[in-house]
Amino acid sequence: MATLDDHRDGPRDECGVFGIYAPGREDLSRLAYFALYALQHRGQESAGIATAQLGGSVLAIRDQGLVSQVFNEHMLRSLVGDLAIGHVRYSTTGSSEWENAQPIVRDDSRTIALAHNGNLINAVELHTEMRERGVPFRSTSDSEIIAALLSTHPADDVEDAVADVLTRMRGAFSTVIMTEDRVIAFRDPQGLRPLALGKIPGEHGAPDVYCVASESCAFDLIGARYEREVAPGELITLDAEGMRSRLVAPAQRHAFCVFEYIYFARPDSIMGAQRLQVARARMGEILWSERPVEADLVIPVPDSGNAAARGLARAAGLPQDDGFIKNRYVARTFIQPGQALRKHGLRLKFNPLPEVVGGKRLIVVDDSIVRGNTTRQIVQMLRDAGAAEVHLRISSPPIKHPCFYGIDMSTREEMIAHGRSVEEVAAEVGADSLHYLSLEGVYKAVRGERSAHCDACFSGEYPLAGTEDSGGKFALERVELPLAARR
Ligand code: SF4
Repeated sequence: MATLDDHRDGPRDECGVFGIYAPGREDLSRLAYFALYALQHRGQESAGIATAQLGGSVLAIRDQGLVSQVFNEHMLRSLVGDLAIGHVRYSTTGSSEWENAQPIVRDDSRTIALAHNGNLINAVELHTEMRERGVPFRSTSDSEIIAALLSTHPADDVEDAVADVLTRMRGAFSTVIMTEDRVIAFRDPQGLRPLALGKIPGEHGAPDVYCVASESCAFDLIGARYEREVAPGELITLDAEGMRSRLVAPAQRHAFCVFEYIYFARPDSIMGAQRLQVARARMGEILWSERPVEADLVIPVPDSGNAAARGLARAAGLPQDDGFIKNRYVARTFIQPGQALRKHGLRLKFNPLPEVVGGKRLIVVDDSIVRGNTTRQIVQMLRDAGAAEVHLRISSPPIKHPCFYGIDMSTREEMIAHGRSVEEVAAEVGADSLHYLSLEGVYKAVRGERSAHCDACFSGEYPLAGTEDSGGKFALERVELPLAARR
């Protein structure tokens, strides 16, 4: 059952990562803190920062909770150092326990702190192989497998270890690691999850400071400039020599997650060389051109439908207004309502405005529908508030297949679009009409080539062999590593 904090019953992203090499900056841990703060939407279960002084030891603080809950002034002051990495997490592999919070720190033949966004599809195989070699594990997360592969690797140079390990892992991994003297970032050969490079220009002859983050919105908050995306299969090193790059795992086919453009990433981030707010507005324009309808007013489902609603209203020449007021203070710790109140549950998050929607033929814009529970309630609330007609416009195609690449989605059977026509979904949620943006429309809006992206949750065409969706069951079970593996 969806909880209140999960009002959109939608997919949840797994993680956000950050890394910076900034010797001499007294505010190092503060830079990491604010970068994570900007990435909070990518994971709200745990947060952590690890720092190191050049040649010294690695310090780490991580815990369950939001960035603002995990860290206080005293903790940030204690995290001294010259380089840092950070992480926010929502778990898809491994349960939500303290041990699974990141950065993970392993101290085997070398010390490695690691922050990972993604999902290894050969985690069980790699884990078994390592346990047979006697490598102990503390957590149930696939991310510790990457840390262990690197911390036990025989190569003298950690970059050579990364280059080797990168070719042995399969799946999605945008990863940032830290040793006592460098930060290394790398991305899987398909580039499934995002990773960007930023720079704080040096002032008065000081060297430039480089950083990496899941999204460019993290750079804006710390005075860094977005430089470029880390390329799929690329290894980037930040150390005393500045920034170095090696393409260590070129792939014939890239497969960046197209859902990042539509849903996961913050609208002020830049991906695929464009500001997502702008791309999302284009999605709204194309939605209108694909299926216009006679209507009086366009309203977004806040905030997920805001940008597309603006684009749609502009293209349609229709007025746009707020049909709902959103309570922005519904926290994850919110006390769940009892059974009697549950049917009003969504009102704790959204309250419709009868004066705005009453008697109107509405176009209601949102970015996705997964299970449909929330959408059904939204349509009903609008009808109760007096709406004459409710026409739903969704800025993504129907979600019909699960994700194996780091996004937690419902199972296929729970997805309302699975096995139903668009008309049947419209009837299920009680809308007068429903239109989903076509895949062609998505690629037109993001100005990208389909051949360089993953759209498996819409199309069922998985870019990695072994993750084909198999008749309503997960082809690959969620990896829950055996408890016996813990130390
Ligand atoms: S399956 Fe969907 S959510 Fe998962 S990586 Fe592909 S496009 Fe993204």
